[in-house]
Amino acid sequence: MESLLQIFNKISRSEKDVELMGKAFRIAEEAHHGQTRQSGEPYFRHVYFTALRLMEWRLDAPTIIAGLLHDVVEDTSYTLEQLKRDFGDEIAFLVDGVTKLSRVRYRGVKAQAENLRKMVLALSEDLRVVMIKLADRLHNMETLEALPAQKQRRIALETTEIYAPLAYRLGMQNLAGELEDLAFPYLYPEEYAWLQKNVAEKYEERERYLDNVRPILEQALKDNGILVLKIDYRAKRWSSLWKKLKRHDLNLEQVYDLIAMRIIVRTVEDCYAALGVIHQLWPPLPGRIKDYIALPKPNGYRSLHTTVFCLDNKPTEFQIRTIAMHEEAENGIAAHWIYEEAKNPRSFIHRKTSPKDKRRFAWVAQLRDWQEQFPGSKEFLESLKVDFFRDRIFVITPRGQVIDLPAGSTPVDFAYQIHSQVGDQCSGAKVNDKIVSLDHKLQSGDVIEILLQKSKKPSESWLNFIKTATAKKRVRAALRQKKKVKR
Ligand code: MN
Repeated sequence: MESLLQIFNKISRSEKDVELMGKAFRIAEEAHHGQTRQSGEPYFRHVYFTALRLMEWRLDAPTIIAGLLHDVVEDTSYTLEQLKRDFGDEIAFLVDGVTKLSRVRYRGVKAQAENLRKMVLALSEDLRVVMIKLADRLHNMETLEALPAQKQRRIALETTEIYAPLAYRLGMQNLAGELEDLAFPYLYPEEYAWLQKNVAEKYEERERYLDNVRPILEQALKDNGILVLKIDYRAKRWSSLWKKLKRHDLNLEQVYDLIAMRIIVRTVEDCYAALGVIHQLWPPLPGRIKDYIALPKPNGYRSLHTTVFCLDNKPTEFQIRTIAMHEEAENGIAAHWIYEEAKNPRSFIHRKTSPKDKRRFAWVAQLRDWQEQFPGSKEFLESLKVDFFRDRIFVITPRGQVIDLPAGSTPVDFAYQIHSQVGDQCSGAKVNDKIVSLDHKLQSGDVIEILLQKSKKPSESWLNFIKTATAKKRVRAALRQKKKVKR
């Protein structure tokens, strides 16, 4: 269990970070002491692997340390105040963000999924919180076997519907695929068994085939003066293979990219040159050349794809990209931090900033920065609908339904959003199990319960604080009604 600390000490640039990490290690181990996971493993292993993953993604020191501490507030007697005192505001803020996210629960209503994904982002404030959550979820998926069947299904479904799409939108498509693949056997056990039985052999066959293609390609690239950094094979994920197979009536011959050959070169020029070399060797299939370098996918993915009639006329897919594109495809938004940091070690998240400044460094700002530096990713920003969040909040009913409201909304707005009658009869409210006044300002992630009184009528004073047009209209209508009855 020493390796995490050892690696951290090696990569760390500041003595203060090393010291904090050592302290986090001790405190997490102590706080989780005696706790086991359902598998019988010590709980500490879970936070250990979460932190290790964040280190692999090369996130900054506070994020890795927060990864180690991400469950202490929720699951042990160690409090947020202690955390602030021992580790400072930034790490406490990250851990608190992860704790808030534990309120997000997907209950299998597809229409709610998009709102829940937005809520995860709105609650996180800082993308690093999402990263910790994703690392946490990945380890939970890797150890899902130990849980009872019903829980397995719920978590697998939530992973597929909420967290894998989020990872994808953040450009971490490798992680998105990994999460989907881990969930797949729990959600589609029969389909998974079918694939195992029918495809496993095909994979091996295709790999042997590509072993014969490889030297021919390597020689041709060399003859054309293209330096290849790496060639490997990318087997199609179970989950995406299944989606594709369904479109082709389970005919495996129709899936050309069962295994694709991936070529990593130094420069963009080399990418296009390599594509030319491949097309000279083997004729391309019409309509299968994809230039995601000139036109990146909305999540920022860049590569050249082509399918050619390869050896023995077999349709075979090739993917060509630079090492930077490769790193981005693997690590998504995290990769951008690495490059920025490499260019200017004092900038970005490593620069010296006040805690308030860091707050400003919320995910929205981060995305905007990203947009400025990488103008091609406009679409990506749009796909996250950033503007949408600036003045919206996401709150939850006791049954887990997500309600989307304008910022500054109150329990009365919430009540009218549920149903006009609920609004009319609203006599009180509980937010996160505590009674609050009706003009209480709601915040993203709040769980809200409305207390009803049958005889209750809307009060004129509500008009002073309610936000939504729906609520205002209903209250005015009800007041007019009241006056009429009096007369
Ligand atoms: Mn956890």
